[in-house]
Amino acid sequence: MPQVQVRCTVDNCYYWAEGNYCNADSILITSTDAAAKHSDSLQNQAMSALVNQIGETPAHHSVETACQTFRPR
Ligand code: SF4
Repeated sequence: MPQVQVRCTVDNCYYWAEGNYCNADSILITSTDAAAKHSDSLQNQAMSALVNQIGETPAHHSVETACQTFRPR
């Protein structure tokens, strides 16, 4: 599995770490449209099931994507 260092500035997230790092084992990125459509599932399903349910979610610009693993502290 690829290893990626995630830098993140959302410092009120449970997974955020000093220096703007993400400490989550994995994160889910989707289009914001898909996040709105599946908002209930995002909070209640395991990552694998969620990815299968959502499927592919193309975006045209970076502002149309976001981390869906965010969990407030
Ligand atoms: S889970 Fe998402 S929002 Fe939270 S620290 Fe990691 S990248 Fe940032």
